[in-house]
Amino acid sequence: MSSVPASRTHAPGEFLHNFHGGLKLRHYKRMSCLHPVTRPPMPEHLSLALKQHVGDRSIALVKPGQQVLKGEVLARPASGFGALLHAPTSGRIAAIDEQPVISRQHPVDTCITLIPDDRDEWHSDCQRMIPDWRQMSGEELLKRIADAGIVGLGGAVFPTHRKLKGHWAQPIKTLILNGAECEPYISCDEMLMREHPEQILLGAQIVARTLGTVEHIVIALEDQMGEVEDDFKRAQRIVDDPRIAICRVRKIYPEGGERQLIKVLTGLEVPSGGYPQQLGIVCLNVGTAWSVKRALVDRVPLIERYVTVTGAVQEPRNWLTLLGTPVRHLIEASGGLQPQVNRLVMGGPVMGMAISDDAISVTKGFNCLLALRPEQLRDPTHSMPCINCSECVRVCPARLMPQLLYHSIRTGDIRQTSELALFDCIECGCCDLVCPSHIPLTEYFRLGKSQLRSSLREQQRASKSEQRHQARNQRLEAQQALRAERRAARQQAAADQQQAQQTIAAALARVRGKQARGSAPQADDSEESGA
Ligand code: SF4
Ligand code: SF4
Repeated sequence: MSSVPASRTHAPGEFLHNFHGGLKLRHYKRMSCLHPVTRPPMPEHLSLALKQHVGDRSIALVKPGQQVLKGEVLARPASGFGALLHAPTSGRIAAIDEQPVISRQHPVDTCITLIPDDRDEWHSDCQRMIPDWRQMSGEELLKRIADAGIVGLGGAVFPTHRKLKGHWAQPIKTLILNGAECEPYISCDEMLMREHPEQILLGAQIVARTLGTVEHIVIALEDQMGEVEDDFKRAQRIVDDPRIAICRVRKIYPEGGERQLIKVLTGLEVPSGGYPQQLGIVCLNVGTAWSVKRALVDRVPLIERYVTVTGAVQEPRNWLTLLGTPVRHLIEASGGLQPQVNRLVMGGPVMGMAISDDAISVTKGFNCLLALRPEQLRDPTHSMPCINCSECVRVCPARLMPQLLYHSIRTGDIRQTSELALFDCIECGCCDLVCPSHIPLTEYFRLGKSQLRSSLREQQRASKSEQRHQARNQRLEAQQALRAERRAARQQAAADQQQAQQTIAAALARVRGKQARGSAPQADDSEESGA
């Protein structure tokens, strides 16, 4: 790794920086990269969750019994924040009801069940000619990205048009495409990059056009992805854009985390509670860039994604999978489970989420299905008291104090939990992996975050109520002051009137006095006239 000379400014990725903590993990990716990516057979039904993105649950626009075409909009966001949902194939809507979904908050949620008709017939909107993206304005491009229902495919599922549209203090000069898929077992991004490097670069160019001010496009790969780098270099010669740089980063988990990757490539730290855009940087997953290219060039909305099926399955591999495909169907397509599998996980072994039901279906954020045997699992009953060894502090990439956070969550000290910056925890699980007491720290941190969110909501409610109370008091005080002012004005007017009356009475008295004096006999005059 090069050290950074202080004398000049370097382009992002020109020199690599270190981030704090992290772990070297075995990656177990090769087993799922042996076959080219194909589509599994069409399932008997697709189950499409109405909430597959950050934001509000979408509203279904179709009814049971309705016939739909491939690419037709099935649901739209309830508010301005969310993403459209499209039919992955043509067929009949069989039901809209509650079904098991992949979510930590809601184990069941509303889903649209679509029975494919095997005609795979496109909706006319997806066949209409669209202008060359190079002729479109940033606003038009953003609208088409929104119309395609694209969200971040690296797991964040944040609506991409919202991420790209913002009014930031400084222009976005750097676009980072994150291909540093650092969690073990997951290889869908690697396979996508091997198969479609040119399309990913085109997607990056489109995204750069929506942002308007991009000077650097950095494609970040892990250093063990040598073949992928060669593929990108070939694609780079075809795309011929001097802004593009391919950069290999070290294989240290969680180097593919957005904040960690930005630190490694630029040396900059995203502020606590802040966004990369504040630093003039946008970071997107390579799969998101690929989806943008498909939407703007091929007119294909987000209806499918690369999914890794790996671990203890008979034929680990990657599939180009329609959204709504049941997990059970993917397992069958991969030859079935090996004996003794007792856990299915969505995602990787560190950050993944256990799946309770193989009827659960693929969503936009579903990158990997991992089957694990008992010996690959940690025993949750085995945890022991914290011995304050500080191992968790040493590996935490967010520079937190996991052991203190753990104590504050256990004791319900919400204020300390907040002061210890729990929201900066990226739930990478490094602390869990090194804890000699086998404490499931990340589980505590998820729980703590939900408690902290409730407490903040409660505080906001209380603060709004306090503001309303203060506003009412101010209103009453103002009314009282107005009344007092009017009363004083009335009293003043009365006093003025009384004063005026007294003045008039005095004047009249003087006049009368003069008149009285004028009409009385003048003694001296009589005396003078009689003399
Ligand atoms: S690693 Fe585990 S035992 Fe050690 S300080 Fe952290 S929480 Fe405590
Ligand atoms: S899970 Fe959170 S606290 Fe633990 S190492 Fe990762 S960022 Fe740090």
